Amino acid sequence: MTAGPREMQGVGAAVLDAAVRQKLIETVARRIIDHADELTALDQAIGDGDHGLNMKRGFEAILADIDTHAERTLPDALKAIGMSLVMKIGGASGPLYGTLFMTLGKELPAAPSREDVVRAAIAAIAAVKARGKSDVGQKTMLDVLVPACEAFAGGENPAAAAASAADATIPMKAIRGRASFLGDRSIGHMDPGARSSALIVAAIVETLEQTI
Ligand code: ADP
Ligand code: MG
Repeated sequence: MTAGPREMQGVGAAVLDAAVRQKLIETVARRIIDHADELTALDQAIGDGDHGLNMKRGFEAILADIDTHAERTLPDALKAIGMSLVMKIGGASGPLYGTLFMTLGKELPAAPSREDVVRAAIAAIAAVKARGKSDVGQKTMLDVLVPACEAFAGGENPAAAAASAADATIPMKAIRGRASFLGDRSIGHMDPGARSSALIVAAIVETLEQTI
């Protein structure tokens, strides 16, 4: 890459070219597909066992169109990915992940600064909260997305924050989503959506660390 030291500190306008976009999309999609069985097992414990297959179906559709997605500008790619996820994932998580990616697409410029990413992530999380009528502390994907965003904003590693935040959903009682039907019996299991969010955050961070 030709990015100078300034760009290397942040997300960096110069570095999100088509090759990096392709690598980002591919790494996220493959990470989710590779962990489908684990996500299924988590959802079998406190849900209906479909989260792994739901997510796998969604991200296989993204991979099938990867060249088209990577050719788009970053905002257009994110919007198209979000729309595809809504259509393919289904369940509760489809509209929520769809909202997350579509809002990122609406909020991010083609060459985002670090500040742009923080602002867009905050907006996307707010949109997920509105869509899910949910907030942090309810044992959902938001319990990973919010701390990951805060870590990035504070200059810390969002992947490490996401991993420990996913672990921190284990002792929580579910207040939203299917797991909430279990009441206290949802305690003692990691939330499947928290785990899938941590996988997505880790895949993004690793790719940017390797390519920027
Ligand atoms: P379903 O619950 O319809 O079977 P999935 O199994 O694909 O859908 O997704 C379940 C995940 O979706 C949960 O683990 C949780 O993280 C997330 N989720 C469910 N409802 C909400 C909500 N209202 N707000 C935020 N996240 C939610
Ligand atoms: Mg489910």
